[in-house]
Amino acid sequence: MGISESSISYLIKLLEEKSDVLITTHYNPDGDAIGSSLAMYHFLSSLGIKSTVLIPNELPSFLQWLPGVKEAVIYIENPETANALLASADLIFCMDYNGLGRVKLFTDQLRAANATRVLIDHHIQPENEFDLTFSEIGVSSTSELLYQIINEAGITNAISIEMAECFFVGIMTDTGSFSFACNRPETFVIASELIRTGLDVEKVHRKVYDTYSESRMRLLGHCLGSNMKVMPEFATAYIWLSKEDLEKYAYQQGDTEGFVNYALSIQNVAVAALFTERDDRVRVSLRSKGEFSMNEFARAHFNGGGHRNAAGGDIFKTMPETLTWFESLLPLYSDQIHKSLANYK
Ligand code: 5GP
Ligand code: MN
Repeated sequence: MGISESSISYLIKLLEEKSDVLITTHYNPDGDAIGSSLAMYHFLSSLGIKSTVLIPNELPSFLQWLPGVKEAVIYIENPETANALLASADLIFCMDYNGLGRVKLFTDQLRAANATRVLIDHHIQPENEFDLTFSEIGVSSTSELLYQIINEAGITNAISIEMAECFFVGIMTDTGSFSFACNRPETFVIASELIRTGLDVEKVHRKVYDTYSESRMRLLGHCLGSNMKVMPEFATAYIWLSKEDLEKYAYQQGDTEGFVNYALSIQNVAVAALFTERDDRVRVSLRSKGEFSMNEFARAHFNGGGHRNAAGGDIFKTMPETLTWFESLLPLYSDQIHKSLANYK
């Protein structure tokens, strides 16, 4: 684990020996998943190594401008091509996820692949199913970790503006525009090194955050106005979205990104959840302030996981059942949540 010299030498050896390289990331990819994968793609290309980025499902529109995105293969749209890539690869990078199950749609093919699997990730408790593991939970993002690996390998001169944009989007989105998970000075040193390549920070910010559709904004209004419950007795607030709500507001992939943070930003709230109804399940996004572990909560109750302060998962219940059940869990955690809030202030 970590960035040891031996891991770097092994990685360099793999890059010299292997010729069929695939870069994969997790289901419902976010800015860091796509940013780190594309940064890796451009980096390999700068070394003269051809690779393909394989994404499980559609990416949100605010990421579709990123350089190199058009060359990526989306599994759900092109399973035959993707399966052929998985079968022929001899080196597979696993970016921004900590277990093969997280790609969801091609887990079996990934497990069966006759390739060396390299993990680059910042989530807690990575599975022991990779041949080489770079796992650092102290960094802001997988993008930051990849930058550090390239830095340790002594090849940051290969960083182009295109690559810098991918790295920057990963770091910026995983820190909520440098507002959380960014207390390490290194994060800002790396950001400033990226800016030195000529990167236009304001443009990148605009492209990610100033491109919301009207319906997304109205969906947010609906959430905050009608679908949010605040429970001061448990320092908890949650939002729910039914399939009808999503249809009414013409939901597009990525539209609910960030909604849960509005619930968390309420004073004296230390736990926030967003429940979104899907065909056969309810998807949950969990956030906390302070020491209360959403990762453990998601693992224990929602078949999921993530980080201490941001985790997610799924539950195979109806929406009303899910909300009743969630509320029934809160008394069990009330003391821990209040303690987390008290220590956080
Ligand atoms: P989000 O709420 O933004 O979907 O996810 C928050 C964090 O939890 C992300 O870092 C994501 O990788 C992780 N996460 C989300 N869903 C799952 C899940 O089903 N399983 C695991 N292990 N992690 C998840
Ligand atoms: Mn990440």
